[in-house]
Amino acid sequence: MVAITVDRLTKRFGTATVLADINLRIEPGELFFLLGPSGCGKTTLLRHLAGFYTPDAGTIHFDDEDVTHLPAHQRGTGMMFQSYALWPHMTVAENVAFGLEERKCPQPEIAARVAEALAAVKLEGLGERRIQQLSGGQQQRVALARALVIRPKCLFLDEPLSNLDAKLRLDMRTEIRRICKEFGLTGIYVTHDQEEALSMADRLAVMEAGRLVQVGTPLEVYRNPVNRMVAEFIGETNILPGTVIGPGTEAAQFEVDTDTGPLTASCHLAGWRPAPGEPVLVSLRPEALRLTDDGETSSDRFSGCIDNTMYLGATAQYELRLNDRVALKITQMNPTALLEPSGTTVTATVRIDDVVMLPG
Ligand code: ATP
Repeated sequence: MVAITVDRLTKRFGTATVLADINLRIEPGELFFLLGPSGCGKTTLLRHLAGFYTPDAGTIHFDDEDVTHLPAHQRGTGMMFQSYALWPHMTVAENVAFGLEERKCPQPEIAARVAEALAAVKLEGLGERRIQQLSGGQQQRVALARALVIRPKCLFLDEPLSNLDAKLRLDMRTEIRRICKEFGLTGIYVTHDQEEALSMADRLAVMEAGRLVQVGTPLEVYRNPVNRMVAEFIGETNILPGTVIGPGTEAAQFEVDTDTGPLTASCHLAGWRPAPGEPVLVSLRPEALRLTDDGETSSDRFSGCIDNTMYLGATAQYELRLNDRVALKITQMNPTALLEPSGTTVTATVRIDDVVMLPG
């Protein structure tokens, strides 16, 4: 297992700075995700780690070894892409063996390692098949076996599941995580799919315009986003602009004036204590809002009329209109009856811990 340390990494393409002073440590055996809007630099960072790009400044270490200028094929890493890049005219076994043939491994060892890699991805017995005779999911497993056969220290995955249908994606999420853990691989995974990241990652980084905006576990980043971009990028949320009235009665709570009246909000950001009058934002996740009055003093309350109802089986999604300017999205889990749109006033409550104050 290998630790990856990125120190002050900077990359420019022409006049554009695509990676700006990136500092990151990925622990040995960790499955780490890079997330962020299109063009934020995820693939560029991954390609630096894999050895396809050289930075303009900064270093990359695998444990204590400085690999910043080491070519890709000497880094001992496996790579898996969105396009599987398999050779259609070769058999499965020939595709998987390719990296070992290049390294001039003896034939008996190649045969044993190909069999081992195919077993790891549950494709035993399919070595003699042609690539065209496999389903999309099986082809993706061949690509994974080909990355594993060289016994890499790290596995780099760039949108590996985006060509698969929804059901196969779910299966492969579990499969990729299992393999990374079983082989003790340090894995770096680039995706647009925040659910994929939340469900698979040990930790993740959210990037924006070449910078790391937040690094943490899925739970930390989802529950305690550092700003509006992260809150909206990871999951769905309602954002209300407001102004700080002053500290609340409990530690880390603030009274905030909003378009819908005063709220008590929680401040999860270490070291940030906004002054009265300072503009802030309040983030409310749709699933944290409940369409009941729980009578709790530790909850905020909203009153309004249901504007829109959508039944999705496992959940129902509502829009609660509070006034001309503000409507809240609310997700109800396991609905047994629906509230239809009407002029009747209903109350929604949310625990103060789920009312998250962010910089304005
Ligand atoms: P996506 O999610 O769309 O794949 P990304 O976050 O992976 O995006 P990158 O592919 O890393 O983003 O690209 C970051 C920025 O660098 C983009 O603005 C892109 O246009 C630019 N870029 C990437 N590769 C090159 C290159 N070889 N030459 C010039 N500009 C590049």
